[in-house]
Amino acid sequence: MSDYLINLNQNPMTSWLTKAVGLPNPVELARSDEGYQKQPFKGKTALLLSVPGGYAGTSVGEVLTAAGAIVLNELSSAPGARADLVVLDATGCGEPDDYKALYEAFQPILKRIAQNGRILLLAGIPEAGDDPVTAALARGLEGFGRSLGKELGKYGTTVNLAYVAKDAVDRLDGVVRFFCGVQCTYVSGQSFRVTAGVSAPASVPVTAVLGGKVALVTGAAGGIGLATAQRLAQEGARLICLDVPAVKETLDKVCADMGATALALDITGADAPRVVADFVMEHFGGVDVVVHNAGITRDKTLANMKPEFWNQVLSVNLAAILAVDKVLLAEQVLRDEGRMVYLSSMSGIAGNYGQTNYATTKAALIGYVAAQAPLLAARGICTNAVAPGFIETGMTEAM
Ligand code: NAD
Repeated sequence: MSDYLINLNQNPMTSWLTKAVGLPNPVELARSDEGYQKQPFKGKTALLLSVPGGYAGTSVGEVLTAAGAIVLNELSSAPGARADLVVLDATGCGEPDDYKALYEAFQPILKRIAQNGRILLLAGIPEAGDDPVTAALARGLEGFGRSLGKELGKYGTTVNLAYVAKDAVDRLDGVVRFFCGVQCTYVSGQSFRVTAGVSAPASVPVTAVLGGKVALVTGAAGGIGLATAQRLAQEGARLICLDVPAVKETLDKVCADMGATALALDITGADAPRVVADFVMEHFGGVDVVVHNAGITRDKTLANMKPEFWNQVLSVNLAAILAVDKVLLAEQVLRDEGRMVYLSSMSGIAGNYGQTNYATTKAALIGYVAAQAPLLAARGICTNAVAPGFIETGMTEAM
């Protein structure tokens, strides 16, 4: 819809009409058709601000400089001077008074942040210490960031928050490159944790970051799964795309386009975990990235829900995932330093009318990931769930 409005606003024949009826004039969002670049911030101005006593600013400054940004601690007063990126190191917040620095850092410059700007806030891990005041101040940044994100979204600006552990400041390279980069155009108002809990790989490339890695994406014939597979391919991954036999023709075509290997399989089948594991071992000798994306909705209020609707959703969205993981992990088909990603949903966080079945499975995935993460950390495996909002795909079209 917003692309349609952009076109109307940019066309001289129709721009008068959109103004006359008061339609919004959305900013054209920054997008990229390429993978990560070595110097993505070349020519961009990055403002690096800090609350006194912070511990993450120096590392972030080094990352921004290596990524090509012109790093300033203060924005020039010259008219027209703009900041493309703003990073605030608030890891030094220890007293409520320190919040004044938030206001003083942002309020004067908000109108001088470029369109499609990026704001990254850094806070300490709230539950890390034993001081409730420090914990409160770290957590408060989340409210600030989510609200500021809503205020600046109309300019294409994103605002995100990283809770950073003291011993993980040397792990901020990828975090800064993503959250200050074009790739996070659709990610705003989010918070995430950067810790040293998972053993780190010896080296992390900044381009072709998945070169030599094998990635398996389920439900990859269309929608989010296909977009994910395409993005992983951009970063150099060798792909296995899995989807149901009913869409084999489409799956074969998208795989041919991407140079991926197709696996037509219903993941709910009793033998599916065995088939997946054997296929991966036979063709690739193991897998480094697994994206559990396949999922379905069968919406009805609980009062009107037939048992097959309940059972189908639980089977695809949860039971099949747990069964596949059991084999991949027990037989070490997932290699050390592997990455597991699970498609949860905002429905799993907030609940949704007519989605008791769906929301149960999506919330369960969040619980599963949280419990699984520490168990896999010693092998260098990271496991995360993502919870998209409404994304226009075949699934939402059916709804
Ligand atoms: P989609 O319907 O477009 O694609 C899902 C894919 O999964 C399809 O290609 C389908 O054939 C495949 N699939 C379904 N059952 C399968 C099975 N048993 N075995 C193998 N493959 C199977 O859906 P989407 O919108 O791209 O959603 C992808 C994931 O993201 C889902 O887990 C969904 O719950 C989640 N999600 C979607 C949205 C959204 O708004 N679209 C929001 C939050 C979460």
